[in-house]
Amino acid sequence: MLMTTARQALVHYGKQLLASRLTSGTGGNLSLLEPRQDRVAITPSGIAYDRMTPEDIVIVDMAGHVIEGHRKPSSEAGFHIALYRKREGIRAVVHTHSVYATTLACLHWEIPAVHYLVGFSGLKVPLAPYATFGSRELADNLAETIGDFNAVLMANHGLVAVGDDLARAFATAEEIEFVARLYYQARLAGTPKILPEEEMGRVLKKFKTYGQQPPEGGNGAAAAETI
Ligand code: 13P
Ligand code: ZN
Repeated sequence: MLMTTARQALVHYGKQLLASRLTSGTGGNLSLLEPRQDRVAITPSGIAYDRMTPEDIVIVDMAGHVIEGHRKPSSEAGFHIALYRKREGIRAVVHTHSVYATTLACLHWEIPAVHYLVGFSGLKVPLAPYATFGSRELADNLAETIGDFNAVLMANHGLVAVGDDLARAFATAEEIEFVARLYYQARLAGTPKILPEEEMGRVLKKFKTYGQQPPEGGNGAAAAETI
């Protein structure tokens, strides 16, 4: 079976999506890129995360053709691939229908720097225009909007987060849901004070050395997971 470790990680984080209440039912999807072989492991379409097994994961090439798997790949395989193609360094994509991020996406509000944790995305979380789920237009809209951000709100749909590994993309989806909730609540209560760009610059710099750093010549991925 190809990409066994990736399959297990996708099943694990799929269950985490439910446990962390970032999605419900079969909403959302996750994928991992194996860059040297131009292969993507992606969750199957319409299968509940609590019943998903590594055998259900589908391996597709960069054109979206199934290389291995007996399930139909996620209906959003097109936008996962479009994001991998658009920016080098993206290795994982997590798409959720988390409640507060989706509420803002329905209002067509971007998320500004209302809290420093918006830095998981960048200076803000931008909004991609609406297009039908699973469409080429949606893939184009997300690829157009992603820039250097690590999260994008999808109008009238949900959120997509990207990262250099699945732990990081998942953490970004989780933290941006927290910030989305704060922003929504703060807007209901009054006029939130937005952090200036200069301060967010400091935050983004500090994120690079936050948490436990790997020893000299050690594994950088482990430290990234701790932010
Ligand atoms: P899939 O079950 O096909 O991955 O679709 C879920 C979804 O969130 C569509 O946007
Ligand atoms: Zn969706």
